[in-house]
Amino acid sequence: MTGTLAEAVEALAVQTVAGEQSGEPLLRSLEQAVRSSGERGTGGGGQKHTRVPFDPEALQLFEDIAGQIATAFHAATLARPTADPTWNLMAWGYALQAAVDRGDLEEIALVVQSERVQRWRDRIVSFFDRPKVIDLQAVCPVCGERRVLVGEGEQLEDRPALFVTVRAGAELVAECRNRPACDGYWEGDRGMVELGRAVGMAIDADAVRVARVTAPEPSDSAEAHS
Ligand SMILES: [Zn+2]
Repeated sequence: MTGTLAEAVEALAVQTVAGEQSGEPLLRSLEQAVRSSGERGTGGGGQKHTRVPFDPEALQLFEDIAGQIATAFHAATLARPTADPTWNLMAWGYALQAAVDRGDLEEIALVVQSERVQRWRDRIVSFFDRPKVIDLQAVCPVCGERRVLVGEGEQLEDRPALFVTVRAGAELVAECRNRPACDGYWEGDRGMVELGRAVGMAIDADAVRVARVTAPEPSDSAEAHS
């Protein structure tokens, strides 16, 4: 599992495909998840961000990892870190490798640091792989309920009966919250078509999957045509 520091840095800062994610490298993707999700740190500009809710989890993870990278960069180079964590990370990797090449640093130090970079990567991958729940505004074809009360006591909540769970690399699953009274359960693209037919709405499986990545708000409603 342990590769070189250069490989670990590349996996985080350069590679454009990681697990189910493709597009920008992981560190940039996380940065974008923070920037695109709220008013904070954007310095205004008057754009409307109301459709994409602020994602505090993304911000916390980004600040933690970017902060650790900045500290590591400063410790290795004594230079002032830039505002770009990707740049800091790569410069830090080169600086450590150069120190080893000069004989100023033991090779083993790189192994320890590469494990550290891999942990950052793992944390970002699991952030993007969080399961997402998308509510469907339709009547459950099994039990006939549109909304159900879930939870207990003070926590009692009125929620839509049907919801879809999206997990990276897994089949879509639609279920009914009316447990244990109802056993409504649909799996895979086929299941979505079947459910869509039963409730008279179009469930676009591809659109649902994309929503996992672009809509951090878990209670986003799918398109309903009744
Ligand atoms: Zn049901």
